[in-house]
Amino acid sequence: MSALYLRVTDLGVRYGETVALQEASLEINQGERLALIGESGSGKSTMAMAVAGLLPRGASVIGTLDFPVLGHSLRLGRDVGVLFQDPDGSLDPVMSVGDQIAEVAMMHQGIGWIAARVHAAELLGHVQIARPLTRLNSYPHEFSGGQKQRIALAIALAGNPSLLIADEPSSALDTVVQRHVVNLLDELVRERGMTLMFITHDIALASERADKIGVLYQGRLVEFGPAAEVLGSPRHAYTRALINTHISLDTPHSKRLPEIDKAGLV
Ligand code: ADP
Repeated sequence: MSALYLRVTDLGVRYGETVALQEASLEINQGERLALIGESGSGKSTMAMAVAGLLPRGASVIGTLDFPVLGHSLRLGRDVGVLFQDPDGSLDPVMSVGDQIAEVAMMHQGIGWIAARVHAAELLGHVQIARPLTRLNSYPHEFSGGQKQRIALAIALAGNPSLLIADEPSSALDTVVQRHVVNLLDELVRERGMTLMFITHDIALASERADKIGVLYQGRLVEFGPAAEVLGSPRHAYTRALINTHISLDTPHSKRLPEIDKAGLV
């Protein structure tokens, strides 16, 4: 059995008056893939960003995050790489993609400029950008949406992190490209023995790609456990409804599942 990578205990997050997350506890082992699922506004991003240490200023946090394998608190870029839904938010439009990847590698791996450029070309190759040496000097606007997401992945990997957090890394892309990005992400995480926390609206994807699943409902982690258990014999009515109805998790809360709300499940 692999070592415990992350223990979250009674995590709670508020943005002013809004309680975004309450009493969430979970554990992930090194090399495991955790999928967080739940409808929009249920607290998935808040949970992921709390783990990455990327909550906005003004958010108040209670509870504890332990990273026993690291033996210290998580360092952004070095220990954790983050991949966001919209790659344009993580790419600098006026800097070549090679420089952007190399900069992160230099900062977090303590290597020089030339080694960092070589590493950048390797990473571009790993994320399946053709002719990586030539493309080092290209700018983000010269790539398609799917390629930009893969370049953002190369940047997230450049510090050689042990944890990758992906916040709906593929939902802005078309279905074929989405599958490609997710397959690649999965392959790279496995090859590198990284721990993965990913957010998805796609329950089929979670069942295919996750070792553990956490279901969030109105700021509470209502279900957490091995993927096969959560999906095979869900304990919570919300998870059962999710599986049975194949509802789109994008649908606003007010238009969905009134019977669940009435039941007062949380
Ligand atoms: P999800 O990722 O599941 O869509 P979020 O974690 O983004 O959910 O949001 C959880 C709750 O916190 C929602 O009610 C949302 O409106 C609120 N929220 C998220 N980010 C902020 C913020 N920066 N300021 C205020 N409220 C926020």
